[in-house]
Amino acid sequence: MPSPASGKDAAAQHRFPCDTCGADMRYAPGSGVDGGQGGGALICDFCGNREEIAGPGPWENTLNEQDLAAALAAPEASAETETRTLLSCPNCGAEVALAGDSHAGECPFCATPMVAGTGAERRIKPRGVLPFGLDEKTAHNAMSDWLGKLWFAPSGLKDYARKGRKLDGIYVPYWTFDAATRSQYRGERGTVYYETRTVMRDGKRQTIRVAKVRWRSVSGRVARAFDDVLVLASRALPKHYTDGLPPWDLGALEPYNPEYLAGFAAEAYTVPLKDGYVEARAHMDSVIARDVKFDIGGDRQRIHAVETQVDDASFKHILLPVWMAAYKYRGHSYRFVVNGRTGRVQGERPWSAWKIAFAVLVGLLIAGAVGFAMAVQQGAL
Ligand SMILES: [Zn+2]
Ligand SMILES: [Zn+2]
Repeated sequence: MPSPASGKDAAAQHRFPCDTCGADMRYAPGSGVDGGQGGGALICDFCGNREEIAGPGPWENTLNEQDLAAALAAPEASAETETRTLLSCPNCGAEVALAGDSHAGECPFCATPMVAGTGAERRIKPRGVLPFGLDEKTAHNAMSDWLGKLWFAPSGLKDYARKGRKLDGIYVPYWTFDAATRSQYRGERGTVYYETRTVMRDGKRQTIRVAKVRWRSVSGRVARAFDDVLVLASRALPKHYTDGLPPWDLGALEPYNPEYLAGFAAEAYTVPLKDGYVEARAHMDSVIARDVKFDIGGDRQRIHAVETQVDDASFKHILLPVWMAAYKYRGHSYRFVVNGRTGRVQGERPWSAWKIAFAVLVGLLIAGAVGFAMAVQQGAL
C-alpha cells in the first residue's frame, strides 16, 4: 500500500503546513487546557493562523503500557515503531530530528555541526508526550533569574545570557517502567543492649556503659508496585543536568501526537530498552532494600540475600520537554537546561575569580575588625 505509507512518512517528518499561507506551523507551548489536558494549538508565526489540536478520541485516550518481556525479546517486532530521518552528532552522540525550520543543523546539546545519520531509522514509537508548558521567553527569563541569583557568576556572562540567542526547545527521550515485585529475603536483626564495665581511668575505678548488638537471623517477604520508574534514554546531556530537572507532572502526559513536536527538535533514544531496564531494576532494587530493612526492624539490619520476582513488567517510551542553551563565554562553554513544564533550571555554576577574591578580602577585613574590637574590649577590662 504505497499511498498510505508515504502519507505516514510525511507525517513522521513532523511538518504541518499552514492552510492559509503554507508556512510551517509550530506547537504553541502552554496552549492546552490546564496546561496539557486535551489538546492545545498549532500556530503560524507568519500569518497568525491558529489550529486546535484535536484531543484524542475516547478509544485512543489510553496511555497503555507495553509488555516488557516481549519487547525485550524483539523490540522492533512487538512494539509499535516509526521511521524517522535523524541527524547525529559526532561529538556527543545525540541523534536528533531537528525542527522543520531549523537552519543551523547544529547539535542543540553541544553546538557541533550534525551529520546525516545512516538514513531513516526504525525505532520504538513514543507512547506519550508531555507538551511544552512554557514558551521560550518564559524559559529564558527563568534562566536569567537563576543566573542572577548566583552571586559569584561573572556579570558579563549574565548579560550575555540575558541578551544571547534563543533557547532551543527539545523533546528528550525517556523510558518509564512499571512492575509488581515480590521479594524474599534473609538477613539479621540487630538489637542494641548495654553492658557495664569497670575500667581504670587516671588511676581511679570507673563504671562505664558499652553498647553491644545482639544479632538474630530473620527472613521474610516484601512486595511493591512500581509506577513510572523514569530512565533517561540518552547520554547527550551529562547526568548531573538531567537529574536536577524533576519533578515531572507525568499525570499530564498526552498520547503521542506528532503535532506537539511541530517547531521543536526531538531527540531519538540512544539507550536501548534493555539497558534502560537494567538501570530501572537497579533503582527498584535499592527501593526494595529499603523496604527489607524496614521489614527487618530492630536497631540495626543486615541483608544477606534478596530474591525478587518481577511480575507484569511493562514500559512506555515517552518524550519530555526541555529548553536548553549552550553559551560560549571567554573560551568556556556553559550549558543550561530548563524544565519545559516547571521552569526549573540546571546548569554550570560559573564562578568569577574577581568576585571570589573580593569576598575573601571582605571576610578577612571583618575577621580583622572583630579581632581588633575584642582586643580593645580586653584592654578596657
Ligand atoms: Zn500561515
Ligand atoms: Zn552534540
